[in-house]
Amino acid sequence: MNKSYTLGAGSMFNNKKLKVADNICLTLDQGMCLGLVGESGSGKSTLGKMILGLEKPDQGEIRFEGKDLVTMSKKERLVVRRKIQTVFQDCYSSLNPRWPIYESISEPLRNFEKLSAREEKRTVQELLVSVGLHPEDIKKYPHQFSGGQLQRISIARAIALKPKLIVLDEAVSSLDVLIQHQILKLLDELKERYLLSYLFISHDIMAVRSISDQLAVMSKGQVVETINCKDPLSSMKHPVSKQLLASILPSHPRDRNKARLTPSKGEMQEPFLETNVQQRIVRSGQTC
Ligand code: ADP
Ligand code: MG
Repeated sequence: MNKSYTLGAGSMFNNKKLKVADNICLTLDQGMCLGLVGESGSGKSTLGKMILGLEKPDQGEIRFEGKDLVTMSKKERLVVRRKIQTVFQDCYSSLNPRWPIYESISEPLRNFEKLSAREEKRTVQELLVSVGLHPEDIKKYPHQFSGGQLQRISIARAIALKPKLIVLDEAVSSLDVLIQHQILKLLDELKERYLLSYLFISHDIMAVRSISDQLAVMSKGQVVETINCKDPLSSMKHPVSKQLLASILPSHPRDRNKARLTPSKGEMQEPFLETNVQQRIVRSGQTC
């Protein structure tokens, strides 16, 4: 799958093309988490946007449950839209600061489901509880919550329609380490409870590894390396991967043993693998 942006028509860039997805070929199996890591500008968010239908690839397919998202009809797209949700770093892209959070969480329900007012309220309260907040919080406004709580609310909104796939783009990047850890734990629990699949995008390789089953490293629009998160990070060979690793380790070799690295998913719990749910749901690229 390929995608380029044309840089500023008639400007100094002279219609130059910037390749942001260059033959990307990735597979995410149902119930799994694929982590996408890479330096800023490597094309991670663009890939997420193409899966969400916010950007179109120039060439190639993005297959979700066997159907190509790129060429499907608007009607089919509408059906798929509820199955693929997103959580961004900036929670205000999904939460309106002028609305009580009840309105933001219930908005997708109102768009896609016909619930009575009572059912809707009960559903929103249940969603809040499932992300670790209180049912009474529905009346509060975004400014009354901490950053971590706001991300919990964004997650509640994202799971409201019981999606199959959630694209998490730098979803924990603005949070401090302790809160990051709590949100990653919550995401892991929700994934098991609701049989979700995640595309977890971050520039932070440790956060990605702690939640993902597979980790793909992106650089300049290409996936340069993919590893299983049960394998040690030291098994990564590509110079870009090594660079990402070097950026998190203390520079002095003496201090490296002291670096407290978040445990990998495999270390946190047994890997979840059931062959009867190993349905291939997202497949981007022409050649795989
Ligand atoms: P990442 O998420 O890895 O930081 P992005 O996918 O956001 O990277 O961006 C990849 C490259 O594409 C960057 O150089 C960015 O400046 C550029 N870019 C992103 N969106 C657009 C756009 N709409 N038009 C032109 N260039 C863009
Ligand atoms: Mg990005």
